[in-house]
Amino acid sequence: MTSTQARHTRRAVLQAAVDASARCAAADPDLFFRAENEPQITWQARRAEAIRFCTGCPTRAACEELALRAGDGNTRVDDMVRGGLSGTELAAARTAQAERLTTAAAADRDTEGRQLDDLTVKLRTQASTSPDGRCNGGRIHQDENRAEQNRRIRALADQIRQIRTARRARAGWGVAA
Ligand code: SF4
Repeated sequence: MTSTQARHTRRAVLQAAVDASARCAAADPDLFFRAENEPQITWQARRAEAIRFCTGCPTRAACEELALRAGDGNTRVDDMVRGGLSGTELAAARTAQAERLTTAAAADRDTEGRQLDDLTVKLRTQASTSPDGRCNGGRIHQDENRAEQNRRIRALADQIRQIRTARRARAGWGVAA
């Protein structure tokens, strides 16, 4: 995915790309963050290493776009790397692309809202469907059907919870209750 493609891609797709291919998935997270009171000289060396690491990441463009939409980075605090950019570079890019990012974030919210509506309808449908089933001469496999229905309900509830958690986190509510 190029940076141009990432800009036109919805958040859920960007996140799926990062989840599937992030080079840092097995890396030490400390590589990307400055420790408290860490001297500038050691952070500069690690920051450069982190940026080099990101340069080889197959999902760098998606990661950068997610970081921009999430509001990562600060013009006054040089303490992180994400998507191949330092925190100060991310903040500068966010300012330069403010209008575009506002539109992208609004589109993401709309998409998530529709996803939530669809998932909620599916969940209600599953929950209100009788688990009883018949096959091979009319034998009822209630236990198997109930287990399968419960699995579907749990999967739908998980999807709903993940979307709500992400929305609340973006709104500054932290972890969803
Ligand atoms: S670009 Fe860097 S921070 Fe983003 S997923 Fe890849 S390695 Fe991780």
